[in-house]
Order: sequence, then structure tokens, then C-alpha cells
Amino acid sequence: DTHGGHGMSLTMKIMIAMGAGIVVGVIFNQINNNFINTQIVAGLFGMIGKMFVNALKMLVVPLVFFSLLGGVTGIGDVRVLGRVGTKSFFLYLATTALAITIAIALASLIGPGKGFDMQGIDTSGVTGREAPTVWSVFANIVPTNPIAAFANGEMLQVIFYTVVLGVAVLMLGAKSEGFIAACSYMNDLMMKVVAIVMHFAPYGVFCLIAKTFAEQGIGLFLPVMAYVITLVAALFIHLFITLPTMLKVLAGLNPLTFMRKMRPAQIFAFSTASSNATIPVTYRSVTERVGVDKSIASFCIPFGATINMDGTAIMQGVATVFLANVYAIDLGLGGYLTVIGMAVLASIGTAGVPGVGLVMLTMVLSQVGLPIEGIAIILGVDRLMDMIRTAVNITGDAVVTSIVAKGEGKIDLDVFNDPDAGIVDD
Ligand code: ASP
Repeated sequence: DTHGGHGMSLTMKIMIAMGAGIVVGVIFNQINNNFINTQIVAGLFGMIGKMFVNALKMLVVPLVFFSLLGGVTGIGDVRVLGRVGTKSFFLYLATTALAITIAIALASLIGPGKGFDMQGIDTSGVTGREAPTVWSVFANIVPTNPIAAFANGEMLQVIFYTVVLGVAVLMLGAKSEGFIAACSYMNDLMMKVVAIVMHFAPYGVFCLIAKTFAEQGIGLFLPVMAYVITLVAALFIHLFITLPTMLKVLAGLNPLTFMRKMRPAQIFAFSTASSNATIPVTYRSVTERVGVDKSIASFCIPFGATINMDGTAIMQGVATVFLANVYAIDLGLGGYLTVIGMAVLASIGTAGVPGVGLVMLTMVLSQVGLPIEGIAIILGVDRLMDMIRTAVNITGDAVVTSIVAKGEGKIDLDVFNDPDAGIVDD
């Protein structure tokens, strides 16, 4: 019920919900009343927000399974499949490496954390994390038990199993016709479930954002303002300059049109701080609004949500430079190169869930010999930073997906150029 003259589009409602959530959250934060804090914010907002995030997560595995099966059988050619996989893998690596390089350069230029006063910061309770080896990261892509992989939402394993299954379906030839038709129906069915859940998005977004802003005081930000400003600047450079330039140069697509179409997905990522939970919305935006063919998006979007984290890599770059300054340790060129390598690896090996970037930072820090207790300094501001970097993460996924689709001739420019595509019926 959008352009029929009554009501407004869902996108508009979601944007208003975000704005209202920020206003209400900041007001509640100032009031600081016990009843509001426990019953309204933690209680009611917490409950609705949790329900909404749960509902999004509930969509992910079945949607990825059926859309990817449809995608693999739709592509129909194992060589094309291999090409799409290889291209997206290297583009994801490249965007992440580029992101963190820019982040480190900018942070070195601004120099946040110099002369920082460590006094009064409780660093107890910060524990490190062992760096997984490249070998184990790749070995674990193959599941031992597909049911366990699906049950735990292990996206790389789900993708691997589904692609193998899809190839087998193709090999069975004519026998598979009925099954392929059933998968296509299941895919449509899943998209309807996504549409149902998305109708509750304004309430979910409002509650998630109001809760975060009510619980996060401005006081947390003041001591680490230099870190926050540098980080947000680096994230915005990636979001508004690097990614749009890539989209224009490598795919010839208008970045402004693209960004407008990605806005709802960015707001979902911002309010949930989870690339994984945002998969259904990213997938829907990329296919119905940007015009990417399902066969490409069904693979590239869940793949990207798992292995591509530009925003997270940027955070790790800025945080490392910041903490090196705080502890007056010179990392040197070797140190920086290690950070770049580790952050790219960390982004491949971890799922897109809230806060995981900070956990992986411990790994990066110990690798370059910085005290991991330093994490305590930026812990307080990490939720908001997580929200922003997750929005950057999923935008990077969508950009690479569109570039790959353009290269394969699998993007419908009529859809891309239609400002109302995917909105009228949302
Ligand atoms: N929350 C981020 C994501 O889901 C990961 C992180 O940086 O913590 O993409």
C-alpha cells in the first residue's frame, strides 16, 4: 500500500522508526528513571527487539538453502559457477584489504590515542583469542554433518553443502525437474515469509535503536572521541567514496541510485549489528531493487555476509593504530602489514554477528604484540561502532555482488533504473 495514495512506503516507515528510535533513546537516557530503564527499555523494547532479530535469523538458513539451490541449478554450468565463486572471493578480499589500508593510513595521519591517560580504566576481564590458522579456516568449510551446519547457521558450511547438492541435482538431469520446480516454489514461499517479517520492521527497528541509545550514554564517548571520529571518518570514506567508485568504475552503475536502493538494508544492518541476520533484506534489496539475478545474489550475498567485512577490518585497523599510540609502541611497516593480513583473515574466518569484530581484534593485537587489555578502552563505544560498521559490511557485499552480476550480464538495468522497483509492493 505505497503509491496507491494511502499510507507510506515501508522504507519510509523504517527510516522514520530509526529517527524516532534515536530521539526516544536519547531522551530516555537523559531521564534515567528506574522504571523506564528496567521495564520500558530493557523490558519492552528489549523484548520486541529480540523478537525481531530472532525472526530475521529464523529466515536466513531456509532462504539461503532454497535460493542457492535455485541459483546453482539456474546457472546450470559448473564452469560459470566456479567463475562467479572465484571472482566474488577475490573481489571480497580486495575490498577488505583496500578498506583496512585506507583505515590505517588515515589513522596514522590523524594519530588518535597519543598522550591518552590510561588511569581509571578497568582492564580486568579482557581475554584473548587464539588466531585460527588459514588451514583450519579452509578445512572447516566442509561440514561433517550438514544437519548440524544448518542447525548452527554455519553459513560457509551451508553454502558448501548446498552448492554440492545443486551440482548433483544438475547431474541427475531430467530426473531433477520436479525437484527444481519444488525448490523454485520453496524459494517464492521463503520470500513471502521475508515479506511478512519485514512488515514488522518499523517496530523492531524502533525498539532496537531506542534501546541502544537509551543504554549508551554520551559519557562513554568523550574519552575516546579521537578514536570514534577517526573510525567513523574511515568508515564513511569507504562507504561514500571507495565503494561507489568501485561500483562506477567496475560495473558502470550509478552509485547514487544504488545507495538509495540499499538504504533499508543498511538500516537493518545498523539496528541489528549483524550481517547474517540482515541477509534476507540484503538479498531482497539486491534482487528486487538493484536488479541482480537471483542466481548470482543467492550465492554472493550469504557468501559476502560471512567472508566480507570491510567495516570490521576498518575498525581493526583504526583500533590497532589507536592502541599503538596509547601504549606508545611503534608498529613499523611490518606491523602494519601483519595487521592488514590478519584483519583480512579474521574477516573470512568469522560470521557476521554482533560484536565479533572486537573479539577478533584481540587476535590481531596479540599478533603484533600489543596488550589485548587495551580493548577495555574502546569497549564502551563498540556497540554503536558495530552498528555503523555492519552497515558498511553489507554495503560492501552488495557492491561486489552487483559488480560480479554486471560482469556476467546478470543484472536487469530496467529494474536498476526504476526508482520504484521493489518498493511499490514492499
Ligand atoms: N557485527 C558485524 C557484522 O555482523 C561484525 C563485527 O564487526 O562485529 O558484520
